Amino acid sequence: MAILRPDCACAEPLHHGARTLSSRRAFLSGSIACAGLAGLPGSGLAQDKPLAKSRRIDIHHHFMPPAYIKEEHDRLNFAHNLPPDALMAWTPERTLEQMDEAGVETAIASISTPGVWYGDVAAGRRLARMWNDYAAEQIKTWPGRFGLFAVLPLPDIEGSLKEIEYAFDVLKADGIGLLSNYDGKYPGDAAFKPVFEELNRRKAVVFFHPTLSPCCGNVIPDLPPQTEEYPFDSTRAIVSLMINGAVHRYKDIKWIFSHGGGATPMLAGRLEDNIGKNKKYAEFFPDGLLPELRKLHYDTASANSEASLAALTIMATSKQILFGSDAPFGTVQKAVKYMSERTLTPEVRQAVDRGNALRLIPRLNT
Ligand SMILES: [Zn+2]
Repeated sequence: MAILRPDCACAEPLHHGARTLSSRRAFLSGSIACAGLAGLPGSGLAQDKPLAKSRRIDIHHHFMPPAYIKEEHDRLNFAHNLPPDALMAWTPERTLEQMDEAGVETAIASISTPGVWYGDVAAGRRLARMWNDYAAEQIKTWPGRFGLFAVLPLPDIEGSLKEIEYAFDVLKADGIGLLSNYDGKYPGDAAFKPVFEELNRRKAVVFFHPTLSPCCGNVIPDLPPQTEEYPFDSTRAIVSLMINGAVHRYKDIKWIFSHGGGATPMLAGRLEDNIGKNKKYAEFFPDGLLPELRKLHYDTASANSEASLAALTIMATSKQILFGSDAPFGTVQKAVKYMSERTLTPEVRQAVDRGNALRLIPRLNT
């Protein structure tokens, strides 16, 4: 695997304050000593494509630290139905190449399923710290190009509270990335209360990513469960937060749900009838469920087909929708292409591509 040599790190032109791979390439092309990057397969150095004219922010983007892949190799491949070693080729440089070609200025790094928890408290804490430190290091190396939704070792509450403190106070994380369930417990469960109280106190951005529920690993034999089970699990997480009053209670948390909220837009009417009009939950949503669903944010990863986006844009307002790619499991280019095929006004497109993310993460407004 080709890597940049340390002696290549030096000042080069910036694009909107962000360090781009193409600007780095321009610098590198003049230095034989710095030619290591040319060894990346498919790097496209010969044509040296310019950064597309966009300042898109990708809110749903996964990092794959080599040490994390090595340790979580089997669980990662199972969770994503991947062939062996499919993720071993991941590097920040390849990610930046995709981002430059697709016009993504900044990607917010988060962990995907299976996360860092497999029942071992010490291992969960160690893996979370390792993943967060790696991501923070990349943010420093590539100013303006990456942000961080730090991972927590949930369901370990004590370890998670410590990691929240470290992530925000030391690493200056942009938010926290959580999974839709931990050992079958959904985020509205009372067990998670100390974590959400702290995240609310910090007015945190909280990004939810789906994972497999213990209930439903092999519902339809031979069908990889991520096909339909992951979107269902995002929906379960949203419903859990709603009916336990978490969205109502933690007013300062800025909630983001990936993949358009899973199946939630399609189920909005059913949820309104069964939950929104249920007197049992009246204190949590006195005006029904829809206004509460419009307090959440949703990314467009895998929700960018015509039908999916139509449902999402009716359930949510344009202020709640954020561009997401799900790289490296989906390519940034494909996510941009699908969104470019949708009919949106220039104002809405700007809000989805960048404006809404800036409102949630103002530090990116450079
Ligand atoms: Zn993802």
